Amino acid sequence: MFQFDNSYARLPDRFFASVYPEPVDGPVLLKFNQELAEELGIEADFSDPARLAAVLAGNVVPPGAAPIAMAYAGHQFGNFVPQLGDGRAILLGEVVDRRGVRRDIQLKGAGPTPFSRRGDGRAALGPVLREYILSEAFAALGIPATRALAAVATGEPVYRERVEQGAVFVRVAASHVRIGTFQFFAARGDNDGVKLLADYVIERHYPELQGRENPYLALLGEVAMRQAALIARWMGAGFIHGVMNTDNMTISGETIDFGPCAFLDEYNPMKVFSSIDQMGRYAYRNQPGIGQWNIARLAECLLPLLNVDEEKAVEAANGVLKEFGERFQTEWVAVFRRKIGLFSEAEGDGELIQALLSAMQEGEADFTLAFRRLAGAAEGEDEAFLACFAAIPKASDWLSAWRERLSGEMQEGSERASALRAANPALIPRNHRVEEALSAANYGDFSYFERLLAAIEHPFEERPEFADLTTPPKPEERVTQTFCGT
Ligand code: AMP
Ligand code: MG
Repeated sequence: MFQFDNSYARLPDRFFASVYPEPVDGPVLLKFNQELAEELGIEADFSDPARLAAVLAGNVVPPGAAPIAMAYAGHQFGNFVPQLGDGRAILLGEVVDRRGVRRDIQLKGAGPTPFSRRGDGRAALGPVLREYILSEAFAALGIPATRALAAVATGEPVYRERVEQGAVFVRVAASHVRIGTFQFFAARGDNDGVKLLADYVIERHYPELQGRENPYLALLGEVAMRQAALIARWMGAGFIHGVMNTDNMTISGETIDFGPCAFLDEYNPMKVFSSIDQMGRYAYRNQPGIGQWNIARLAECLLPLLNVDEEKAVEAANGVLKEFGERFQTEWVAVFRRKIGLFSEAEGDGELIQALLSAMQEGEADFTLAFRRLAGAAEGEDEAFLACFAAIPKASDWLSAWRERLSGEMQEGSERASALRAANPALIPRNHRVEEALSAANYGDFSYFERLLAAIEHPFEERPEFADLTTPPKPEERVTQTFCGT
């Protein structure tokens, strides 16, 4: 079914542990992403669903696979842990997709590995479905992220705060190399390991850097730029990752391991959903700063490769960190310029955007709806937009300032309205809808999950049949906390 070519497993032994998935009692295929499978050149045999489920649950290791658990370290909430590693995930192997891009196929929740420590190596149904929904929402929103290939029930219980149903999430990623992977070797003083890994990721993700005078500095710079751009896009979608530990930040620039993540309903930059983020370290507005902090940790690992002279190496790394800040700012303004329907760039755009955000904060406006309804305002219908705000005057002042800025552009209202509708989704996987889908699934009803998935496939379209999924939660429907633990 897979045409594997496993480059990571060809690295030295200390990069991973070879380990087979532990078979489960009763694998049942819950969801399979046919479109992604085709993109990956995977041939799924639906005439034999039992075998398909057995392969995707890890019971049958397909020919060509080289199952491994990857070694990595990481800063968790600021504290360094020298050994984490795949404790509940097994990399089955790599395939080269139709566009020639190498992609990892990983089974999350496939049983214990040498990195499991006290964990059971398993995943619960709810978090698996959450990652499925969120992954596919990202794809539809055009935000780089790991993808969902399948969800499989194991037929076994997992023991969390309560007894839950076990499941395996089949994840596809450009690779699973994280900042924490570099930290694993750096923390052991294994400079050869750092260099081998750097060469590996340059070849896999940044081949254009191979001829550079200092490819390692260029690598640091490129990772930093991709992460700056990625976080700007999260901000534009009102997304809060929730666990931006260094082991949850990829080298490829894809969003990964968004366990207790959530999208904002009403705009509040201090917002935190994750039950374990008690200090608000990973609050919405802290994300760019944390991204930069994480890049600094990567820079520390790469220092010996940047320059033999340590002082010069530090100087070069600091240059990249400064550039991260600047790039984030540029990307952020670019993202939000699109969100307020500007076609041109002008000085003061940053302030105009900030003014809207502060009106939204004061007026407790729903982030997604307020931006979406600007399209109406572009065509002269202000009412729906203004109705998003509990405090109108600031919002209506803002509309005047916005119109003044727009008067310098030649585009017609209708053209601007369509640009706004293409930049601002009508539909995001709102927390209360995600929770609703997961709790129904826990009782065996997958219809909410299926419907939400169908809805988020086209987030920029307003489809009457999904209108109920576009609205903010009623007070009694609000979800204030999210939990991790896939
Ligand atoms: P995460 O919260 O997904 O970023 O995971 C942090 C670390 O905890 C990783 O090393 C995981 O492999 C490990 N881990 C999380 N859950 C489990 C589990 N159920 N069994 C074993 N290891 C786990
Ligand atoms: Mg993780």
